[in-house]
Amino acid sequence: MGFKVLARQSTPGKRERRMTIVAAPESPAVSLEALTKRFGDVSAIDEITLDIKDGEFFSLLGPSGSGKTTTLRLIAGFERPTTGRVLLHGRDVTGIPAFDRDVNTVFQDYALFPHMTVGENVGYGLRVRGMARDERSVSVAGALDTMRLRGFEARKPSELSGGQRQRVALARALVNRPRVLLLDEPLGALDRKLREDMQVELKDVQRRVGITFIFVTHDQHEALAMSDRIAVFNAGRIEQVGSPADVYERPATPFVAGFVGASNLLEGDLAERVLGRRGRFMIRPEKIRVAEPDEPLHEGECGLAGTIRDVVYLGSESIYVVAVPGSHTFTANGQNVNTTSTDALAQQGRQVRLVWRRDQTMSLSSDSDSGGITAEAEV
Ligand code: ATP
Repeated sequence: MGFKVLARQSTPGKRERRMTIVAAPESPAVSLEALTKRFGDVSAIDEITLDIKDGEFFSLLGPSGSGKTTTLRLIAGFERPTTGRVLLHGRDVTGIPAFDRDVNTVFQDYALFPHMTVGENVGYGLRVRGMARDERSVSVAGALDTMRLRGFEARKPSELSGGQRQRVALARALVNRPRVLLLDEPLGALDRKLREDMQVELKDVQRRVGITFIFVTHDQHEALAMSDRIAVFNAGRIEQVGSPADVYERPATPFVAGFVGASNLLEGDLAERVLGRRGRFMIRPEKIRVAEPDEPLHEGECGLAGTIRDVVYLGSESIYVVAVPGSHTFTANGQNVNTTSTDALAQQGRQVRLVWRRDQTMSLSSDSDSGGITAEAEV
């Protein structure tokens, strides 16, 4: 079954008719214009401006309390903004209630009806809208197929695994053919392996159905793995919007550099000693090679002497925690190509030289025109 993403043409009920959208084809799926939400004294989000394109897998990434869920709830219509506007496909919906917006939300706890079967859960929205039984069962079957749930129609949610429940929640949202699907940490309750499987599956479903997905997560790996673009939130504001490669390789601020992926910071005397410059610089752990202490540096490389204080063996790779002079600690990742756990752990206490390519060092300078802090790919 293919979910063709078109403005709804069928108008069986009053509500359906109100939801019919004729939008300019170029309009973004979602536009947030200077959106602010305050709860009493708490400013949950502050002047957020953002366009999300039609058909994008877009993630809102940030630490707890940074305003991701509030933004999602404003898009859904569960909250009204204090100031600013929400547009869906070019139409101002700021004052329109949630049930009249062409969006669906999948929550972390799935919110399935426990007394209904899988089939009844998935068909519920269509039944409420007055869709005839035959038409409904075709749509439900299609959504169950999309989520690989054929054969589970008659089960109750309590008779399913966590991953299967998650799929039912998705099928229930997709069956309504929303133009925008909002997902609030939907994989949060799953164990790591299942979570990783579901990341792949969710991305695949999104590609197939072509619906705009807006995905809230505090997990940087999840956002990097799934998204076309990511907005990185910090304290109610967006620090950067970009592709996974943009936010990882070209972080716009020190916050983004620190939050998206691990990083080692060089500043003050240490920066001067290693790079010959003062300022704030950053190097990713996977860019660093742990070498013999007397290994000569090649052209374009920089090096830093240290002592391995700890080794975290992770199977496919090891993380080396290296103490360097000046009470700093650096981390370096090494693939365990020929290294066993015994080899890796025996490195503790060893004198080493950390070596990386100078052009992999990022400069976190605070003198950009916009008054923000920018990173450069080279020093
Ligand atoms: P998490 O990842 O923990 O869900 P989040 O990034 O989604 O966090 P929000 O839930 O959007 O963050 O909350 C942003 C801020 O607004 C927080 O300081 C939160 O305490 C506050 N907040 C959210 N909802 C309300 C509310 N209904 N009443 C008062 N304060 C609220």
